[in-house]
Amino acid sequence: MAKKPASTEPLDCPNCGEPSVVKRTRYGRRDDCERCGLHSWDGKPMVGQEVHEARKHCHEIFDRLWKSAETMYGIEERPGTKEYEIAVARIRRSARNRAYRFIALITRMPEPECHMSDQADIEKLRTIYRAAKDATPEGIRDWWKAEGEAWWQEMNPRKTKAKEADAA
Ligand SMILES: [Zn+2]
Repeated sequence: MAKKPASTEPLDCPNCGEPSVVKRTRYGRRDDCERCGLHSWDGKPMVGQEVHEARKHCHEIFDRLWKSAETMYGIEERPGTKEYEIAVARIRRSARNRAYRFIALITRMPEPECHMSDQADIEKLRTIYRAAKDATPEGIRDWWKAEGEAWWQEMNPRKTKAKEADAA
């Protein structure tokens, strides 16, 4: 993992080694290599357009696995209240974590490598895409209940307990 540079310090282009051009945009910091056409956001390592496109495609197919996860559960809180919003956010967060873990299981990649915004390998992004495409929110929920949680705890004995306590 490359360390984040100070806010205005240019990045070195991984391709040509030249310093990036740093711009402040309304979406945040953007770095461009004007020689190679690589770019990145928020000081992350610069990658080419093909990787950016692949990440975007992955997100489109992956995000449907968690972004409306609350429809699978009954929420006791009244819609329109702050408590309801909190419950929805908690369910989505849990569903998102589980979806990444499910992708890790299917692809046999370590879970951090399944986070596409940090993944720069096109082949791995394609692997993530295929796994996400074949998955459904209900399938992941059922997998988690049946065996996923036990599998994950076995893989990560220290991390899991506290984090899962608030999972719906
Ligand atoms: Zn370059």
